[in-house]
Amino acid sequence: MLLPELRTEVVRFARKMYESQLVHATQGNLSARDPKSGLICITPSGADYQLLTAEDIVVVDEQAQVVEGKWLPSLETPLHTLVLQRRRDINCVMHTHSPYASAFGVVYQRFPMILAESALCLGDEVPIAPYQMSGTPAFAELVANTLGHHSAIIWGNHGAMLVGVTLPLTFSIAHALEDSAKVYTIARQLGTPVELPADEVIKLHDFWVNHYGQKALTQEAVGEA
Ligand SMILES: [Zn+2]
Repeated sequence: MLLPELRTEVVRFARKMYESQLVHATQGNLSARDPKSGLICITPSGADYQLLTAEDIVVVDEQAQVVEGKWLPSLETPLHTLVLQRRRDINCVMHTHSPYASAFGVVYQRFPMILAESALCLGDEVPIAPYQMSGTPAFAELVANTLGHHSAIIWGNHGAMLVGVTLPLTFSIAHALEDSAKVYTIARQLGTPVELPADEVIKLHDFWVNHYGQKALTQEAVGEA
């Protein structure tokens, strides 16, 4: 079996994603690139997270062609591979349906930076992609273009996607996004939330980028207009 250790890690974090309610049932998907070979391990289509084993993880190349696996890869594989092709600074892509973050993609409201911990990894902006049916090449282009150099993106009327250098960091980003969205929703019921100053958010995010090596690419390098 190719890449047994990375496949096992993808299973571990896919299950953590499920157990911490970032997804329910067979929702969402997760991929990780092996930096040495460039091959990508991705969850299978319709994955049952509780039963998932390393053998169920599908290995694909950067063109989304299956190299090894007994199941079909996630329907979102072309999106994962497109993002991984364009973003050499990250190795992992996670798609979640976490409810509070998803709600921002329903009201299309700018995502506020209210928690220091979240500003560290999210930076000053979480872009929201307009609604489009997922699982298509056009959707992959839309999401990859809207993501740009950011760590997180909210899909309009759908869910969220996070990218990171490692699986633990990507999992942390998913929770940073959901925690911020949830705390903001609670805070609005108590009073008027106060956002972190913009220069403080930049300072926090720069520290995180330098510490973890998630270097932001230039706009040209990620193909943004
Ligand atoms: Zn989804």
